[in-house]
Amino acid sequence: MTGPSRARRLKIEIRGAVQGVGFRPFVYRLATGLGLSGWVLNDIRGVFLEVEGDPERLIAFRDRLRTEAPPQARIQDLAESWLDPAGYEGFQIRTSEATGTKTVLVLPDIATCRECLDEVLDPGDRRFRYPFANCTNCGPRFTILRDLPYDRPNTTMRTFALCRECRDEYENPLDRRFHAQPTACPACGPQVAAWGRSGEVLARSEEALELAADALLRGDVLACKGLGGFHLMCDARNEVAVGRLRVRKAREDKPFALMVRDLAAARSLAEISPAAAALLESAEAPIVLLPRLGNEAVARAVAPGKPELGLMLPATPLHHLLLRAVDVPLVATSGNLSEEPICTDERDALSRLSGLADAFLVHDRPIERHADDSVVRIAAGAPRVLRRARGYAPLPVAVAEELPVILAVGAHMKTAVALSIGRQVFLSQHIGDLETPEAMNAFRRVIADFLRLYETRPALVVHDLHPAYPSTSWAVEWAAEHGVPTFAVQHHHAHLASCLAENATPAPALGVTWDGTGYGTDGTVWGGEFLVGDAGGFARFAHLRPFRLPGGEAAVREPRRAALAVLFEVFGGDALSREDLPPVRAFSPNERTLLAQMLETGLNAPLTTSAGRLFDAVAALLGLSQQTRYEGQAAMALEAAADPREDGAWPFPLAPREGAPALLDWGPLLHALLEDLGHRVNAGRLAARFHNSLVDGIVRTAEAAGEAHVALTGGCFQNRLLLERAAARLSALGFRVLLHREVPPNDGGISLGQVLAGARHLKHLHRIA
Ligand SMILES: [Zn+2]
Ligand SMILES: [Zn+2]
Ligand SMILES: [Zn+2]
Repeated sequence: MTGPSRARRLKIEIRGAVQGVGFRPFVYRLATGLGLSGWVLNDIRGVFLEVEGDPERLIAFRDRLRTEAPPQARIQDLAESWLDPAGYEGFQIRTSEATGTKTVLVLPDIATCRECLDEVLDPGDRRFRYPFANCTNCGPRFTILRDLPYDRPNTTMRTFALCRECRDEYENPLDRRFHAQPTACPACGPQVAAWGRSGEVLARSEEALELAADALLRGDVLACKGLGGFHLMCDARNEVAVGRLRVRKAREDKPFALMVRDLAAARSLAEISPAAAALLESAEAPIVLLPRLGNEAVARAVAPGKPELGLMLPATPLHHLLLRAVDVPLVATSGNLSEEPICTDERDALSRLSGLADAFLVHDRPIERHADDSVVRIAAGAPRVLRRARGYAPLPVAVAEELPVILAVGAHMKTAVALSIGRQVFLSQHIGDLETPEAMNAFRRVIADFLRLYETRPALVVHDLHPAYPSTSWAVEWAAEHGVPTFAVQHHHAHLASCLAENATPAPALGVTWDGTGYGTDGTVWGGEFLVGDAGGFARFAHLRPFRLPGGEAAVREPRRAALAVLFEVFGGDALSREDLPPVRAFSPNERTLLAQMLETGLNAPLTTSAGRLFDAVAALLGLSQQTRYEGQAAMALEAAADPREDGAWPFPLAPREGAPALLDWGPLLHALLEDLGHRVNAGRLAARFHNSLVDGIVRTAEAAGEAHVALTGGCFQNRLLLERAAARLSALGFRVLLHREVPPNDGGISLGQVLAGARHLKHLHRIA
């Protein structure tokens, strides 16, 4: 039997990343295609719709809603209820309502889709060579959003009035640009301009692009305004240009990322696996760290001595056009001085980058908030995000239970903040190291932005246990001012909680939390920790043998100091006269005397169990690195040097202790290392033996701890060799290994763990009360 008497009404509420991805037009097409009537609506909590008609068709509608959803949509939750028909006629897309709690997901920026790129490259299309073409499947989102819900008046596109043709597309439910909020065309949208060093307009539109391309090919440095900020660009083949950029940016060694025009260009520079190709071409379009071919045509200064190149493909039509115009790989590094936050505004860029760039390629679409390029490496069979920014932020991590609103401010390096609302923890874009006033400004701006965007007030502010971190001071002051309680979380405990949260594992686990620095509960510098616990608490099961680090933080950029320190710890003062060892030779006799005094008295030589510093010490002993420009550089050199065929290892015993954490003792490892050095075993084999020894130590400790789950977290697990070998050995022994994927293992992921630890703290307080 058919007819109106059988008709039913289906009401559906969808939560998740469903705004700005063409979800409503998709619903419209699906409903009208099935002959159903009703309406669909975006509001600040998600997408709501009602459809009515034949029940079988309603069921088909509901099923296809999930299976045929637009590519960028992420449905987190779909609630349905069946009602009597309301007698709707036709299908309507209703205007947004701004009521209720703001829980809708803010989407990250999405790289240009194939269809838009085809239009931009098609001389017959009205968007031919237009740098700002986009549609509901691609384009800016997070970086243009001023307020929720995501509608054009709430974006930085609000000042560009749609022309008639664009409006027709925008209002046509069957068009790819139906309700594409940032949609634009050459007639009505943003325009590019080329500026000279003092901001004088040199050219506009097409001519500006030509001028920028010419400048690049001439060897100039170009400051180019992109999606989430400025890039500094230059011809990657040009040794002089790259060298000049290094000098101007005060960046001597750290590798530069490259932007190439397409996958074919990427293949001429690096080994591209199918997984890497998919990642390069993904909507996130991150920088992917890839094994370089070795004979590639890029300047030596791009990534001196590095086995990998960081490559990315253009993420906007502007970058596609620029890369096609130059047809060479371009260095594309954040538009900033050294480690400062990225520039987003052209007037600001003019003052901050004028000494760095020879020309500017700018445009008049404002950037509402910064987003650096994300960095991803493929390790242990999956992409691992190392820097989480454009394309990923601010997507949340979903958690099992409803959380109070908690703000977590991270630690000190690679800072990102986190905010929990309901069952979601929103992670901010990468902010950076909080070492400069500019970085602190960016930090405060991101927090204010998050609280404003989600219109919420935290019930708790969580910070690192380190009393002297600027993030800690900020949290304490802000909380006092706003009458909100604070909670301090030990650094490595936060790493562990972060890894557990990302893997949705509530069970206690052994957290192998290895990094450079984290303030311990005993006031010493931790960093080679084995913690057993969960978000609610931990016990320090074991740690690396401690040693005194002369000069404390100063030693972070001097691996030779860490080497002297471990030598002193095992062999005493005599070791400091071993001229046969590179790190000893790297100091003058006077310096050695001074360091020996520091080590003997312990004055300005804090105790540490840092795994990062142990990497430094070994890199220095192998003669790979005595002084560095940035943290982790020596460890990267050690990883790069390691010969993957070598499977030997040095003794690295675990010593249980009464009433104290077990000690993983690198003393015997050091003895064996020096012996091998004496036998002139090559550095590649030694570097591999060191990694293998660490893996043995991890496995030994996991067996002693006896926890079924083992989390590998902390900055040291950015090291692919260590991560892959440890994960493989542990898995083979039946452990369930927890690794990070979309949340960085380094301090960029720490705020997620801080939120979860804070939530458990609040719950505990409530139980007591
Ligand atoms: Zn598109
Ligand atoms: Zn237009
Ligand atoms: Zn850390």
